[in-house]
Amino acid sequence: MIAVAIDGPAGAGKSTIAKAASASLGYIYIDTGALYRAVALSCIKNNVNTTDAKAVEKLLPDIDIRLIFFNGSQRILLDDNDVTDEIRAENVSMAASAVSAIPSVREFLLELQRSFARNDNVIMDGRDIGTVVLPNADVKIFLTASPEKRAKRRVLQLEESGMPADFDKVLFDIVQRDYNDTHRKTAPLKAAEDSVTVDTTDMTLEQSVEAIISIIKEKTI
Ligand code: C5P
Repeated sequence: MIAVAIDGPAGAGKSTIAKAASASLGYIYIDTGALYRAVALSCIKNNVNTTDAKAVEKLLPDIDIRLIFFNGSQRILLDDNDVTDEIRAENVSMAASAVSAIPSVREFLLELQRSFARNDNVIMDGRDIGTVVLPNADVKIFLTASPEKRAKRRVLQLEESGMPADFDKVLFDIVQRDYNDTHRKTAPLKAAEDSVTVDTTDMTLEQSVEAIISIIKEKTI
């Protein structure tokens, strides 16, 4: 089995690029951010404060998250409801960043993430895939871009899914999430020592996908 880990900050284009690269290579794409978002959504639905680690931990045994693959794309089920679109809202992004700093949440999702890489060739994206989840991944990529470019892309993405967004607010949230993700004690966002960094600030989507595919091919022949 081949495992490709793609880590990087919010809005670097990880999911779009990883999705396109997996379709081209015939790998399964796993978006691990969706798992943290599902935990966050569950907290919101159950009125659990996402900064209250004890309360979140207490909720974990009752959270049922499943990933299903439908027409080649990943759908995420929370307690049997398809929440794939709902988890993209900005308030869920912030809540996901908060719950992801709680060690028991990371522990709760660790085995689930590893199980995906056992039976299939995968491209998995997240923040700690190359450092913690799949430290023996065959290919590790750290994908990044300037905060302004990432905010611009996020605004477009939100608009396309019918959620108009304010650039300054999105940029503020991205900078805030970068800070949270890189400063947390457990599994902070950082490039794995053996990763290849790709900066997509001045790249088109097509160029980024091409760059990722060529790194994967180079490392797996
Ligand atoms: O990638 P996405 O923006 O959907 O992730 C939402 C949040 O989940 C991130 O801000 C990050 O805090 C957290 N996350 C994480 N580890 C991962 C994937 C996501 O901590 N592997």
